[in-house]
Amino acid sequence: MEYIYKNTKIVIKKGDITEEDTEAIVNAANSSCMGGGGVDGAIHSKGGPAILEECKKIRQTIYPDGLPTGQAVITTGGNLKAKYVIHTVGPVCIPSFDEKKKKLLRNAYWNSLKVAKENKIQSIAFPSISTGAYRCPIEEASKIAIKTVLDFIDKENFIKEVRFVLFSDRDFKIYEKRFKEILDEI
Ligand code: ADP
Repeated sequence: MEYIYKNTKIVIKKGDITEEDTEAIVNAANSSCMGGGGVDGAIHSKGGPAILEECKKIRQTIYPDGLPTGQAVITTGGNLKAKYVIHTVGPVCIPSFDEKKKKLLRNAYWNSLKVAKENKIQSIAFPSISTGAYRCPIEEASKIAIKTVLDFIDKENFIKEVRFVLFSDRDFKIYEKRFKEILDEI
C-alpha cells in the first residue's frame, strides 16, 4: 500500500530489501557491524566486499568497541541498486520488550533517518528491525517503526519516500494493519 503523509510517500510492501532502488536501504546489523545472518547476511552477500571494507574502517575509527544499540552509520551500497547502506542495531528482546528496549528500537529508526538526512538522502527502505533473530514482537515493533517514521516526518520534513519492506506475508499484513490503525488515530 502507498500513502502520502505530509509530502512524504510511505510504502508498505512485501519484498527483498536487497532489491530496492531507494537511495539508501537500512541494515538490521549487529554491533560488530561485520555482517551476520538474516537481512544483514543478504545485504553483505549481494552488496559485495566494499560494504565490509567500510564497516571495518568504522570499527577502526569511530566505534572500536562496536556500534552501540540504537545508533546508525552509513556505508556504500557496493553492488546493490541502493547507493548507500545505513547500518543500525536494534535491541535484543530476550527476555522482554520493556520500555528501555522500545526506546532503543525507536532510536534505531530515528538515527537511521537522521543519518539519511545528514547525507541528503531522500528515499530510504527499512526492514523490520529486531523482529527476526532479535525476537522483538512484531505486533509492537511495527507500531514503533511506523510511529517513529511519522514523528520524524513531522519534525524534520525532508525525506521524500520511506518504504517498509517486509520479507513474509505475515509481517506485511501486520505492518499494513498497524499502519491503517495509526492513520485512523491521527
Ligand atoms: P534482527 O537481528 O534485527 O532481528 P533479522 O535479519 O534476523 O534482524 O530479521 C529482521 C527482519 O528482516 C525479519 O523480519 C526477517 O524476516 C527480515 N529479512 C530477512 N531477510 C530479508 C530481506 N532480504 N529483505 C527484507 N527483510 C528481510
